[in-house]
Amino acid sequence: MEFLTVANYRLLTRQITKLLNALSTSKDKDVIAAVKGLIETDLRAALPQTDQTDTIVHQLHQVTDRTDADLFLHAVKSYVIPFKAPTAEDLKKLFKKEKRLRIPPLQSYDWKEVTCLSWKDGGTHRQYFVIEQEGKWKTLQGVTKVDTLKGVCRICRQHTLVNLFTATVRGKTEDTFTSYSHYICEDPAVCNSNLDNAEQIHTFIFENQQNK
Ligand SMILES: [Zn+2]
Repeated sequence: MEFLTVANYRLLTRQITKLLNALSTSKDKDVIAAVKGLIETDLRAALPQTDQTDTIVHQLHQVTDRTDADLFLHAVKSYVIPFKAPTAEDLKKLFKKEKRLRIPPLQSYDWKEVTCLSWKDGGTHRQYFVIEQEGKWKTLQGVTKVDTLKGVCRICRQHTLVNLFTATVRGKTEDTFTSYSHYICEDPAVCNSNLDNAEQIHTFIFENQQNK
């Protein structure tokens, strides 16, 4: 049964990397046990509290090398709830004010790896975001500057190459607008793959949400 979010899966991937690093740098059983203890604490805090999570945590304790880790992650992926995949028509409806919406290559996504569907239009410098919440899509759009620099992404909080994204939001009265600018990952695919907590992108979207 599918019960993990994509972000949960990313978290598991990150924790497995941490475990493999510990295994490759230490032969001390107590050290490894301590690392596994910390990983278990983090996972118990983030994952749904079910028997299946107990099983996953138990399996993680058995991982001793890269091969085990790959098998573990492959098995865990079958528990991931995929992103609700939109069609091109869905996207046109979601961004209906966009006259020439550039549609991303929807066939090429692995929906079990998408927490936030985001893409850019290189011609107009517009960037689009679609997230899913309680079975519904929520969107955000804005413009990005071409210049990139090193910095911390507002969404995934990682040190990375960022550029300035600006969303313009309609105010309470008809003719007032407010703009919000943030540095975010230059590459939306990298940002998506960094997200091990869906709250981060949900907060970003709601802080910058455009009235429709
Ligand atoms: Zn990011």
